[in-house]
Amino acid sequence: MGLQAPRGTRDILPAERVYWQYLEGIARQILERAAYREICTPIFEQTQLFERGIGEATDIVSKEMYTFSDRAQRSLTLRPEGTAGVVRAYIEHGLHSQGGVQRLWYLGPMFRYERPQAGRYRQFHQLGVEVLGSADPRADAEVIAVALDILQALGLNDLTLMLNSVGDREDRSAYRQALVDYLTPYKAELDADSQERLQRNPLRILDSKDPHTQAIVKEAPRLLDYLSPRSRAHFEQVQSLLQDLGIPYQINPALVRGLDYYTHTAFEFQDLSLGNEGTVCGGGRYDHLVEELGGPATPAIGWAMGLERLILLLRDRPLPPRNQPYLYMVTRGEAAERQGLILAQQLRHQGYTVDVDLSGSAFGKQVKRADRVGATVCLVIGESEATDRTVQVKWLASGEQVLVPQQELLSESWRSRFLAAS
Ligand code: ATP
Ligand code: MG
Repeated sequence: MGLQAPRGTRDILPAERVYWQYLEGIARQILERAAYREICTPIFEQTQLFERGIGEATDIVSKEMYTFSDRAQRSLTLRPEGTAGVVRAYIEHGLHSQGGVQRLWYLGPMFRYERPQAGRYRQFHQLGVEVLGSADPRADAEVIAVALDILQALGLNDLTLMLNSVGDREDRSAYRQALVDYLTPYKAELDADSQERLQRNPLRILDSKDPHTQAIVKEAPRLLDYLSPRSRAHFEQVQSLLQDLGIPYQINPALVRGLDYYTHTAFEFQDLSLGNEGTVCGGGRYDHLVEELGGPATPAIGWAMGLERLILLLRDRPLPPRNQPYLYMVTRGEAAERQGLILAQQLRHQGYTVDVDLSGSAFGKQVKRADRVGATVCLVIGESEATDRTVQVKWLASGEQVLVPQQELLSESWRSRFLAAS
């Protein structure tokens, strides 16, 4: 058997990659418009960062990390998410000392040892933002609005915004006890994962996907009823700002984020057509994480989008046409081939996409290939054209053809003729 990509990973072939480029282009434009700046952090970090930043009791740290020792026996981990690395970099480089709010975004691969299925992989990609240095509810509303802008610009209009508040640490510890007290008599009826979480991470039981557990959880005490007046005020302000922005949402008291340092606002954008893998964006406030990782107390909020899931939704749609002439160089005979190579370079320097047929096969075969790759125009140089330094310009759609001096193609008037044809 031949070699295959590792389980849970996938190749993104050129035909799919155009959708990724489209998505990245839209996201970059919207984020830059909102004054977010791109940051890149390493794909692996010290294991400790994730243990402390995500929390040992979470699924990610307890069973999904790709952890290994390097040759000097350092424990390293392929990043399972982006926030911990960004916060580490924020502290390490003293970005907080620049004052004010830092609006950052990132895009890249993440790694989690999960059971692969459609929309769930072991290497997947996230686009994320982090806004560090503001506790203002406007920051919460802004990150949600920016996420929605991206999703809508991609034409995804069937999404539901689920919103909740998980309060602050004090609110949660009071609630945690009430939840454990309520669930303990039902312990035997809970799904296996939830039984295990009852001591370790009981809040996570709230978003169990098991139907029977869900039915039990439905009657459980609600975290929203345990919010302090301060937490409640923050949540109400976020909601009122979303209303001002005309962003509809549903309050979902069962929406919790797995991580220990999440506070206040938690949200997800869901596409119900994707089933259990329907969350395309998840985020929340994490006011204690920077401090927990050794930085100064810094309130923060962010989100991450799963790009594979967005691509699944996008792939059914036609991409907007690219409005760029695609020229295809057809040559035969040594002199023609040499001239074609030079002319192709000159045209590329003018900004055109030029594909040079290297096959040396018959003219007809080369022209057929031009059609297949979606070229707009064939530039044909044969023996007689090479002698005269001319080129046949052949529009593939109409079959129309004209003979022109090679250098004339570099002129402005030809630019408009090529554009008109594309
Ligand atoms: P889920 O409940 O689906 O496991 P999560 O809470 O683990 O999601 P987050 O850590 O919030 O996910 O990550 C944000 C987004 O990244 C998710 O909403 C999803 O779109 C995407 N994502 C998470 N894990 C995977 C994965 N293994 N494969 C593909 N995308 C993923
Ligand atoms: Mg998960």
